[in-house]
Amino acid sequence: MSVAVTIETIEKRFENFPALRGVSLDIQPGELVALLGPSGSGKTTLLRLIAGLEEADRGRVLFGETDTRDLSLRERRIGFVFQQYALFKTMNVADNIAFGLRSRPRGERPGASEIGRRVKELLELVQLPGLEKRYPSQLSGGQRQRVALARALAIEPRVLLLDEPFGALDAKVRKDLRAWLRELHGRTGHTTVFVTHDQEEALELADRVAILNEGRIEQVGSADDVYDHPATPFVCEFLGEVNKLPVKVVGSQAFFGDRPVLGGLAQNQGGPASLYVRPQHLRIVDETPLALPGTVEHLRRNGPLRRAEVAVDGLKKRLDVDLASQVAPAIGERVRLRITHGNLFAAA
Ligand code: ATP
Repeated sequence: MSVAVTIETIEKRFENFPALRGVSLDIQPGELVALLGPSGSGKTTLLRLIAGLEEADRGRVLFGETDTRDLSLRERRIGFVFQQYALFKTMNVADNIAFGLRSRPRGERPGASEIGRRVKELLELVQLPGLEKRYPSQLSGGQRQRVALARALAIEPRVLLLDEPFGALDAKVRKDLRAWLRELHGRTGHTTVFVTHDQEEALELADRVAILNEGRIEQVGSADDVYDHPATPFVCEFLGEVNKLPVKVVGSQAFFGDRPVLGGLAQNQGGPASLYVRPQHLRIVDETPLALPGTVEHLRRNGPLRRAEVAVDGLKKRLDVDLASQVAPAIGERVRLRITHGNLFAAA
């Protein structure tokens, strides 16, 4: 039932503004792909193009082998969940879920008892059994979005499109629903495209993440791919906090001034570069040949971790360092930092 979605060099302008500038993406049947990017990067436009709610100026979208321009909206069979206002307020839960089934043409419309059975089944699937008679106003935000998902699933969609479905909910509910959706997807296996601007959500939920910036895809890959091996400085910075260090590459080593700071580099084209290092990839160490000497200038808590700001000798900006639980430096203490992982980009 699930279908592959192929997006081929899509371009889309609104008046003169290029919202999408040559976007290509292959989505496998049953895959859950997150479109991640800042506000205005083109995520929703791409989702609406897949749904058939917008038309591309160039390029095409295929479902399997079929160009979607040859399919009517009904034939595309899209399940769509929006951030808010997804449910009809004047209909109870059962009628909301049944809406898509009742809208089918006469010959394809299931009978009342079949619809009733299907609604019950779907409410069990989204873990809200027995809520048929409730109205949207009598549900929590998280329950409403689960009903919206049940409604989207009722039509047995070929592709499920979710536009920031948990965006309006508070952090705890969001986190629960994320795990819940992941599990649900494991059971139902719909080809799913999920739009979010929340890095954590995309990395936790998706089989693959496509990172958009100004109407282009900067990188597509698994959470580990994009987080550990970002293809561009934008991806690296967008996915989490990062320190930047100007270095010079000689052979397979990066040097900060005269000090070698990271070895074993594959990119050995040489010359000046920027080394991007996440706070958790800097470690306070005793003695090591590859180390950055500096002074602890500030200590603070950063969520579950403690964070030190270290003024490295010869560098204007302090480096953020996540501290292992057994490490407790004092302010003013001289320390040596070892870089355990970094990403090199051409110097800006
Ligand atoms: P957000 O996270 O804020 O929803 P997004 O990544 O989903 O952002 P889009 O909604 O796809 O971004 O918009 C991409 C760009 O296209 C934005 O600059 C937006 O202003 C513009 N745009 C989108 N729809 C229209 C429209 N109907 N008319 C004019 N410009 C539009």
